[in-house]
Amino acid sequence: METRKSSGATDDDEVQKTFTAFLVDAPLYKSVRLPIGPDALKTRVDYLVGPRVIRRECVQFGTVLNWVADEWVAQFGQMTVVWFSCRNCGSMFGVWFLVSTRGEYLSLTKYGQHPPPERNPPNELAAALGDDYTDF
Ligand SMILES: [Zn+2]
Repeated sequence: METRKSSGATDDDEVQKTFTAFLVDAPLYKSVRLPIGPDALKTRVDYLVGPRVIRRECVQFGTVLNWVADEWVAQFGQMTVVWFSCRNCGSMFGVWFLVSTRGEYLSLTKYGQHPPPERNPPNELAAALGDDYTDF
């Protein structure tokens, strides 16, 4: 398998931060603009290097934990599907999204998520587990 080289812009902290926040928190169908301007885009490759670790709530443990994925990239203009697994319980979190150029900027739009986005994650399980699990 070909090893892709990441460009400097894709490794930029602000880009990765926005990209990661998008994957974890963005609602469906709402576009998020990446902090990459037209100058940076001129020298860019046609993909973004995705984060391998994100932080999101694990419903089973009722707290925010690390979720990991193998090395991956998102090609511009193509639907990308990425799956992260919870380091603690192995639950899977999947996101379907598109990277597109809007004018001279890049935008991200989420088209699907598994499990589906919830406004109020269930707390019953966390409450049922009690204090024994607060150390996770
Ligand atoms: Zn978990």
